[in-house]
Amino acid sequence: MNAILKSAAAVRSTQDWQAADAAHYLHPFTDFKSLAHKGSRVITRGDNIYLWDSDGHKILDAMSGLWCVNVGYGRTELIEAATRQMTELPFYNSFFQTATPPAIELAELLAQVSPPQFQHVFFSGSGSEGNDTVVRMVRRYWDLLGQPERSVIISRHNAYHGSTMAGASLGGMSGMHAQGGLPIPGITHIEQPFWFELGRGAQPAPLSPAAEKASRDAFGLTAAGWLEAKILEIGADKVAAFIGEPVQGAGGVIVPPETYWPEVQCICDKYGVLLVSDEVICGFGRTGHWFGCERFGFKPDLMTFAKGVTSGYVPLGGVMVGERIAKVLIEQGGEFNHGYTYSGHPVACAVALANIRLIQREGLVERVHDDTGPYLAAQFAALAEHPLVGEVQSCGLMAALQIVKDKPSGRPFDSALEIGMLCRGHCFASGLIMRAVGDRMIIAPPLVITRAQIDEMITLIRHCLDLTLADVRRNGWL
Ligand SMILES: *Cc1c(COP(=O)(O)O)cnc(C)c1O
Repeated sequence: MNAILKSAAAVRSTQDWQAADAAHYLHPFTDFKSLAHKGSRVITRGDNIYLWDSDGHKILDAMSGLWCVNVGYGRTELIEAATRQMTELPFYNSFFQTATPPAIELAELLAQVSPPQFQHVFFSGSGSEGNDTVVRMVRRYWDLLGQPERSVIISRHNAYHGSTMAGASLGGMSGMHAQGGLPIPGITHIEQPFWFELGRGAQPAPLSPAAEKASRDAFGLTAAGWLEAKILEIGADKVAAFIGEPVQGAGGVIVPPETYWPEVQCICDKYGVLLVSDEVICGFGRTGHWFGCERFGFKPDLMTFAKGVTSGYVPLGGVMVGERIAKVLIEQGGEFNHGYTYSGHPVACAVALANIRLIQREGLVERVHDDTGPYLAAQFAALAEHPLVGEVQSCGLMAALQIVKDKPSGRPFDSALEIGMLCRGHCFASGLIMRAVGDRMIIAPPLVITRAQIDEMITLIRHCLDLTLADVRRNGWL
């Protein structure tokens, strides 16, 4: 099988792949014309934390694909689970009073690994669809309670909740809202808990660690206060839910101050507003806990998941439904007119079961919590010494560094210079996948990464920062 795949790839040259790609394939979130001109990089193989492209270059994948390949590439347990299930029963639906063993067993296992308020799950095919389900479900909940006017969902600027109409509306990406008449009605946004941009202020000199912590904590309360202000502005009797990622992922690995989520929880409790945690990135060990809400100490009513649930080997998403909502849907509900052909897809569920059992067997959540997470945090903290770095942040196995022009003030480079993209280009050319969000460089490596591999990754990052600094100096941008 492998031999056949390899020889199939070998018969086409990179140029040939690129030509066919440019002729027929519209990529997601891509400027089609410029990519067609440049030619895409064709990734042909993966093993552990490494990828290979069609020219045979080895690349350290510090982004776990797209935040999802938590157990690394090439795991036989997942491959065999898929093969077994495809042989036995490749598909059956759960619409007409039927179910399949993998879907039932996965629902049971998810209830075990989730916080105790979660005993039920609704499956989708992706994170975006999961968030569509969230919108349908919270509105259905308030309808059933006789408060249909409670329909507004509050989210945050620079949040990412997917790319369907509802997902992109919940998200706070202005570029996405600008295309397609979004957000849809009944969704509104508050500012994000991004201390470096909104709370730090210009400083004449770097803050002491104690002063920085005090400033972050105070800002966390301020940022949570924006939620209360918005609820009061709309009227609590019109607000259905608040949704947020425990740590904003696509927005730039923005780790909120420790004070933020507990205060958000208090505010939601005070006004009876449902709290939704989008755990599509933070779930399944990324933060060193099974779910990000456990890391930050809050108790959501709903949790969206996808990505890491199957380590990305096959598409699967869903929503964990807290008992507060499940009780109403079950006991007062009647039929919930919502679902997807692939809700509870047996192959996807079989792979998710194998993936979660592998995470348990290898103790990956504990490993991130006790060992590799703290180790990554220490190595990343050392990068703060670099002349280009204004802030470093990490949480479990995700981390960010902010490239700035002036360290003490945190002043950025002219955005037209696209320093982040420049740095990302050096990474790509040096065999490292690191993502740029504006001038914020981010990573989220597979949870199986070892200390030695973290060292290898940090050496590459430092090298690419040096190359970027050399460009900056050569061009007189400092
Ligand atoms: C990726 C992501 C989504 C969307 O998931 P898809 O599977 O791409 O639809 C939703 N929320 C968060 C936090 C994400 O990172």
